[in-house]
Amino acid sequence: VRCTAELRAYPIHDLAHVPCWHNGPEVLIGDAAHATSPSSGQGAALVLEDAIGLAALIARHPDPVNALPHFVAHRRPRAERIVEEGQKRGRYKATRSALERWVRDLVVPVMLRRFVTHQSMDWIYGYRAADVI
Ligand SMILES: Cc1cc2nc3c(=O)[nH]c(=O)nc-3n(C[C@H](O)[C@H](O)[C@H](O)COP(=O)(O)OP(=O)(O)OC[C@H]3O[C@@H](n4cnc5c(N)ncnc54)[C@H](O)[C@@H]3O)c2cc1C
Repeated sequence: VRCTAELRAYPIHDLAHVPCWHNGPEVLIGDAAHATSPSSGQGAALVLEDAIGLAALIARHPDPVNALPHFVAHRRPRAERIVEEGQKRGRYKATRSALERWVRDLVVPVMLRRFVTHQSMDWIYGYRAADVI
């Protein structure tokens, strides 16, 4: 960072709630439906889940007009929860003062070791799109 001639900062935007994901036989997947902050680390994973879930659903219900409402009903709550999680993580990462950064760097590693377990993360990493849709 010290050797970088010019540092720039860009705002991060997400899509916490896109009211309409599908119209007839057309559907949004991926960032178009639920762009999430990089702090969630899940944007690309969500796209893959969408694709796998959609393929599994279409295999069972070949008419997309009937299948897509099920797809949206299953995917929306999870995608929106992950977008919210990304916002939360972004908030504690984005400190404003040196004191805040000092406290964050002291506290966060302890909190992560104490509270972030396989069990607490299972709702993110244990999800299998083809099984639940
Ligand atoms: C800094 C950063 C870090 C990230 N880190 C992670 C991470 O650690 N883990 C993770 O899972 N995700 C991460 N993500 C998120 C992840 O990259 C995105 O969620 C994912 O790429 C979204 O995929 P997508 O296919 O929905 O959209 P995109 O990857 O944006 O693909 C859309 C494509 O459509 C093309 N396109 C747009 N308009 C048109 C048009 N009119 N005609 C033709 N083509 C068009 C675009 O050029 C693009 O190639 C990160 C994102 C950023 C920005």
